[in-house]
Amino acid sequence: MSLEKLVELLKEAKHTVILSGAGMSTESGIPDFRSAEGWWQKYDPTQLASVDSLDRNYELFRDFYKYRLEVVAKCKPNIGHEVLADWENQGLVNVVATQNIDEFHKEAGSKNILELHGSIKKIYCADCGTPSNVEAFMDNKSCASCGGRLRPGVILFGEGLPQDVWAQVQEEIGKSDLLIVIGTSLNVSPVNYLPSLAPGKKILMNLDDTPFDREFDLLIKSKAGESLDQARKLISLA
Ligand code: NAD
Ligand code: ZN
Repeated sequence: MSLEKLVELLKEAKHTVILSGAGMSTESGIPDFRSAEGWWQKYDPTQLASVDSLDRNYELFRDFYKYRLEVVAKCKPNIGHEVLADWENQGLVNVVATQNIDEFHKEAGSKNILELHGSIKKIYCADCGTPSNVEAFMDNKSCASCGGRLRPGVILFGEGLPQDVWAQVQEEIGKSDLLIVIGTSLNVSPVNYLPSLAPGKKILMNLDDTPFDREFDLLIKSKAGESLDQARKLISLA
């Protein structure tokens, strides 16, 4: 029933914005913050993925991101990413704003993507800014131009969001008539403030409850990939 409603809202809307989080990629095999596996059980991600750990504990920081890069390399976009890319092609989705750093929306074929937290695959020097590459990072290399520390192009805790991307996301959501939030606990600020900027309808597709559930017109508490796949089938039947 709720998926029929989603399809109805999607067809009516003139400007649809997607806001995705880690739950978008769990069906690809990438654990979200809540998962009890490996690193995430041993360390608090908010401490590990931070400017503090880059500055004070570089080797642990590097090992953590090497591990995360290996996980991403073993996984691929899921059916949900594909559906969103198809919908963009068909003019049903205008923009995908994502907190994910895995580039799966891009790999699945979405074009209009706003990466709020950067990309794990864009390696650069933390000391002089010179771009490098994943291979050098995986080999524990130093920066080729200054010998400094290589790091992934993700936004760490303790860093601000890229202002240009942040402004674009606010603008897109501000002019949307449909916002679909997918797979985010809405625990991380300032992203969790974005849904309040949407003047139109709002749908939340997330397994667990969030502190903002009441702000949404429609809640879909099932797996994102499966739900999007079903919604796509409903559209093609109509
Ligand atoms: P989060 O881990 O805080 O929340 C994920 C939410 O997704 C949870 O509420 C969970 O119920 C829901 N979820 C899990 N699997 C789902 C599924 N199949 N369908 C629907 N919902 C599902 O993640 P967040 O809100 O994105 O914020 C945490 C931070 O984690 C972000 O800064 C992000 O950059 C980072 N992160 C990114 C990745 C990635 O790039 N794939 C992975 C882990 C964490
Ligand atoms: Zn350098």
